[in-house]
Amino acid sequence: MSVHVLLVEDDRELRATLRDALLLEGYKLITAASLSEGIAIATNAQSAGNKVDLILLDLGLPDGDGETLLAQLRKQLNTPVIVISAREQEGQKIRLLDLGADDYLVKPFGIGELLARMRVALRHKGVPVSASITQYNKAGVNIDLAMHSVTRNGEQVHLTPTEFNLLARLVRSTGRVVTHRQLLNDVWGAEFIDHTHYLRLYMAQLRAKLEVDSADPVLLLTEAGVGYRLVDDE
Ligand code: CA
Repeated sequence: MSVHVLLVEDDRELRATLRDALLLEGYKLITAASLSEGIAIATNAQSAGNKVDLILLDLGLPDGDGETLLAQLRKQLNTPVIVISAREQEGQKIRLLDLGADDYLVKPFGIGELLARMRVALRHKGVPVSASITQYNKAGVNIDLAMHSVTRNGEQVHLTPTEFNLLARLVRSTGRVVTHRQLLNDVWGAEFIDHTHYLRLYMAQLRAKLEVDSADPVLLLTEAGVGYRLVDDE
C-alpha cells in the first residue's frame, strides 16, 4: 500500500529535491506550489477519493501563509502535517504545533531526518512505514540508491534515468515478485500499465549491464506471466 504525501512548497528546486528523495523511498507524491492549490488538494482529497496520508507544508507561500492551510485542515481532518520552514523563532514553532502541526523542521534540513520524522508522524496516525531498502550487494553488483550509485566488480555502471528507476523499484522489493502492472505504474505512470514491451526492453538493457550472461540471468529474474524479481542479496 502506497503512502500518499502532499508537498506544499513554492521553491521549485526544493520541490524537485524532495520529489526525487520521496519517490526513491516509495512514497506517492502530489505537489502544490501555492497556498490555494494546497488547500484545494488537501481538503478535496477525501471527497474525491484521492487520499493524502501526510502533508509537508511550507509557510511562506506566494499567495499566503501555510498556517492558513493547517487551520482550515484541522477543522475537518487529522492528516499528519510536518511544517518545513526557514522561520526558526520558538514562538512561531509553538504556535504551529498548537495549531495542530505534528512536527516542525527548520530549513535547511537533511533528507534523512525528514524521512525519519515522516515515519514517526505516520506511525502516530497508525500508518506503519519502515525505512525502505536502499542498498543491494550480490554477485559483484553493488547498488546504493541514496548515492545514485551502481557498480559491477567495482566499476561504475552507467544507467539511464528510466533504467535506474526500474532497478530502484526492484531493489525496494528485493526478494519479492513485482508485477508488470506495478512496475509500469510506478516507473512510467498509470497511463502506461499496458505497455509491457517497455518493460521487456528496459529489463533487457538492465540485464546487459548487470548480468554476467544476460541470456541466463541470476539477479534479475523473470517470473513468467507475473513480473520480475531481484533475487535476495547477501
Ligand atoms: Ca517558501
